[in-house]
Amino acid sequence: MPYEDTLVRIAALKADHPQNIALQSFDPAYFATLNADGQSRLMKCLNSGIENPDSEMGCYACQPGDYDKFRPFFAKVLARYHKVPEDARHTNDWTLEGVDGLPANGVLDIAELGLPALSMRVRVGRNLADFPLPGSMTRDDRTALERRMMAAFDQLIADPDYGGAYHSLTPGNPNAISEDEYQALVDAHIMFKDMGADSYLTAAGIAADWPHGRGCYVSEDRGFIIWVGEEDHLRIMCMERGTVLNRVFDRLKVALGVVSGIDGLDFAMSDQYGVVTSCPTNLGTGMRASLHIALPKLTADGTDKRAKDIARPLGLSVRGVGGEHTPIGADGTVDISPSARFCITEAEIITALYKGIALLKAEEDRSGA
Ligand code: ADP
Ligand code: MG
Repeated sequence: MPYEDTLVRIAALKADHPQNIALQSFDPAYFATLNADGQSRLMKCLNSGIENPDSEMGCYACQPGDYDKFRPFFAKVLARYHKVPEDARHTNDWTLEGVDGLPANGVLDIAELGLPALSMRVRVGRNLADFPLPGSMTRDDRTALERRMMAAFDQLIADPDYGGAYHSLTPGNPNAISEDEYQALVDAHIMFKDMGADSYLTAAGIAADWPHGRGCYVSEDRGFIIWVGEEDHLRIMCMERGTVLNRVFDRLKVALGVVSGIDGLDFAMSDQYGVVTSCPTNLGTGMRASLHIALPKLTADGTDKRAKDIARPLGLSVRGVGGEHTPIGADGTVDISPSARFCITEAEIITALYKGIALLKAEEDRSGA
């Protein structure tokens, strides 16, 4: 049996790592029903969770069809992580009207909560249907995807609403930027960090061939950004300092319509699961809506521990100011976003950010320093 050793290893790891969702959802009897190709594909999805048994999720999809093809495995993964039934169906919907908690005028204005202008960002993950997902891409796939996107960006550049420039990390690319220019974009929260530093992305093959095929498109006003070649083929986002969340949400909604209408950009979708993303945590909407907010009282000990304890029951995640796995800011600034992405609509996510921030601010205000 080709996977005998791996199956023994999985069984041992499973016993020692009850938090590892992929290992806990792995059923050797189901695995045995797959043909050789299916077995090798499913093992590839699980590699990061085997190499990093301390993972919470422990798997990534590596082909756009993996969630549907390996439904008996992924249904369990999704049910465990997202706390939904195994036969859950996702529905995408950007319509704010009628969403519970939306103010009567439809405007999600954090000034109404007594907050100043803050940095607001909404991003969605998207993958092209006709490329392998990042975990299974060859270097040629990565640069071919970048070329496909550069042709698409020519159309955005010509559009006054989105016009800007593409910056590539690929050696020899005509739009290549220097190390210093790259670092300046990272510091401005525009470009993503070196993925090789992430052991999960590395074990999954997602960080491979760095920096080939990596880059980002930035509009002239720097408020509309597309990452190429991170955890998903594309991360499409709008970012702006202000108080009205609708500004970034609405701009992204319209921008997505424009991008998905460009020839050659067909996004991977699942009838049952919605938007297909590498990581099952992002499946469905692929959306994370965040605010950078200073919580000096809740972070008075210099860590995000207390903020996290208070945010979790509110359905909010806390990250550092440089993104996931980075420290909080010197003034106690953290990144707050609703945790849910699957079996929730896009409109519900942005409203959940507004509702969550109201509750979190109340906790901060009442908290002793
Ligand atoms: P994601 O996984 O959603 O892309 P990360 O946690 O990896 O987000 O962060 C990516 C980058 O986006 C980081 O530079 C982070 O500081 C930045 N970022 C996230 N939210 C905001 C925000 N509301 N304002 C400014 N920058 C943000
Ligand atoms: Mg990320």
